Amino acid sequence: MARDTGASCRLCRRENMKLFLKGDRCYGDKCAFERRPYPPGMHGQGRGGKFSDYQLQLREKQKVKRLYGVLERQFRRYYELAEKQKGITGSNLLTMLECRVDNTVYRMGFASSRNQARQLIRHNHFLVNDKKVNIPSYQVKVGDVIEVRENKRKVPVILEAMETVVRRGFPNWLEVDKETFKGTLKALPSRENITIPIQENLIVELYSK
Ligand code: SF4
Repeated sequence: MARDTGASCRLCRRENMKLFLKGDRCYGDKCAFERRPYPPGMHGQGRGGKFSDYQLQLREKQKVKRLYGVLERQFRRYYELAEKQKGITGSNLLTMLECRVDNTVYRMGFASSRNQARQLIRHNHFLVNDKKVNIPSYQVKVGDVIEVRENKRKVPVILEAMETVVRRGFPNWLEVDKETFKGTLKALPSRENITIPIQENLIVELYSK
C-alpha cells in the first residue's frame, strides 16, 4: 500500500518541532525536521519575524492536536472537560491527552508512534483490564493494566517497537513488564512529568476568548 511519508514530516516543520509521527524514522538521520528545520513551502526559509498573540495561540493548539493526533472537535471537547475539572485547565488538558489509550500504548513501547498505536488498537491488539478495547480515545485510569493480546505477541511492529523503545525510555507514571507484554498506569501524569515543550497557557487563552 502506498504511504505518504512526506505529509507527517511537513507537520513537524510547520510546527517547528519534532512531533515524532513516524516512529523509528524520527530518531534517525532521515528525519525531515533535522534536515530542513524550517516551514515547508516555497517561502518556508523566509518566514519568521513577529507573530500576533492570536497566531501564537493558534499554532500552539495546532501543534498539540497534531502531536496527539486529535481532531478539532474532540480537542475542543477535551478542553471543555479540562475546564470543568478541579485544578489548572491547561494541565488537566495535557493529562487527559496523555491518558488516551493510544498515547499510553505508545508510551509503554508497544507501538513506535501514536499513529501506529491507534491502528493497532483499532485492530483489536490490546486488552485493558482483560477486556478488548478498540477505541483509541479510551481514557486509561490509575491502576488500569494494558496488555498485548496473547495471539498478537508476535506481530513484528509490536516486537520492533518494544526493542527500540529504550531510545525514548519510559515515563515514570507507567510500569511496563516486557516479559508479560503488560503495562500499568501507576499514577496520573502531572504537568512536571510531561516534558514535551508545550505552552498550554496559550491554548487556554485561545479558547477563553
Ligand atoms: Fe518526520 Fe522527523 Fe517529524 Fe518524525 S520527527 S514525523 S521523521 S519530521
